[in-house]
Amino acid sequence: MTMVASSAIADTTNPDWARIRADFPLLTREVQGKPLIYLDSANTGQKPASVIESVDDFYRHHNANVSRAVHTLGTEATDAYEGARNKLAGFLRVRADELVLCSGTTFALNLVAYSWALPRLQPGDSILVSRMEHHANIVPWQLVAERTGGRIKVAELMPDGSLDLPALYAAMTSEVKLLALAHVSNVLGTVNPVREICREARRRGIVTVVDGSQAAPHRSLDVASIGCDFYAITGHKMCGPTGTGALWARREHLQAMPPFIGGGEMIREVSFEGTVFNDAPHKFEAGTPNIAGFIGLGAAVDYLQGVGMDHIEARESALLAHATEELQKIEGLRIFGNAPEKAAVISFLIEGAHSHDLATLLDLEGVAIRSGQHCAHPLLQSLGVAATCRASLAFYNTHDEIERFVVALRKSRSLLA
Ligand code: PLP
Repeated sequence: MTMVASSAIADTTNPDWARIRADFPLLTREVQGKPLIYLDSANTGQKPASVIESVDDFYRHHNANVSRAVHTLGTEATDAYEGARNKLAGFLRVRADELVLCSGTTFALNLVAYSWALPRLQPGDSILVSRMEHHANIVPWQLVAERTGGRIKVAELMPDGSLDLPALYAAMTSEVKLLALAHVSNVLGTVNPVREICREARRRGIVTVVDGSQAAPHRSLDVASIGCDFYAITGHKMCGPTGTGALWARREHLQAMPPFIGGGEMIREVSFEGTVFNDAPHKFEAGTPNIAGFIGLGAAVDYLQGVGMDHIEARESALLAHATEELQKIEGLRIFGNAPEKAAVISFLIEGAHSHDLATLLDLEGVAIRSGQHCAHPLLQSLGVAATCRASLAFYNTHDEIERFVVALRKSRSLLA
């Protein structure tokens, strides 16, 4: 497989952020005649040239299906696809044979819901979730609870957007069989102390599912050491292609869980009398996967590791501090989520300005932010607001962009006054 080099991964002891930014072709475009300022990375991340080129290279030179053909192209495709699984496993510090490749976090959480929870939960059992969860970490549990006669219990938050830990631990009662929790909130930016929480849950015999969608792109992870039972990630938020993601699970769970989707690739032998399934993780990967997408995700992992996850975390902390300081100077602006451990996500509202109006006016200035409910209706209901604006930063953003964003925000607000 052709190696596609990144043009500008700098000396990792002192990253050259300007050169790193230049690796992202889309960031050079204009929107509405203005230079783009992309502040929507919590929604989806931009892609470096090496990721785009690896997908292009696969289709130009190696395209074939995986695990089926013995011809050269088939072998190359299979090696590259399994190579991507190995890279992702290295990135998460887990075993590759415990990593199920799938279309993203939504699929990963549904896999746990239907394959682990549905056959096990009994009437009267509870699934504990936090108030800050994305709908992907609420709705699958509701669907399973409806079918098993279980119920959903909610762990509430402190005013700063962090989890109320004593209340969470008090809610871990004997009928709770599963805890589903975000590692990092996509609305508040709160970083949850998942290691400590999973330890407490384990002590009480509660199985834990951590939604790592907003953690994997921004910090160095050691999933095996978190002590959870399941960890879900999504590729498109970590510089990879859409339609890629993974579920890590403890081996004993993968072995005990029945397949979720049936079809080719996940079997060892099929007859009309019955089917013998393949071993995990392949047992959960029916059908032709997003081969090019995963090869792109492997390139994204190479890219992130080339920059260095510790550098990325430090860079994004500095950008967050700068943006928070500047936004707090704006009269009438309220930030939702001020937890001491916070990722570079800022949800806010300005008194007297509707969030969609602000986002629309900002777009005219070339600034892309998200406005709305961020797939977190229960959280917004508890905050007492119908919608917020959300600016989410990544390492490829610049301090200059933050200054220009704040100028554009002041201008937009004045037009709505
Ligand atoms: N969980 C969180 C915290 C998210 O932010 C998102 C995406 O916005 C998801 C889950 C859904 O992930 P996917 O896009 O892979 O379905």
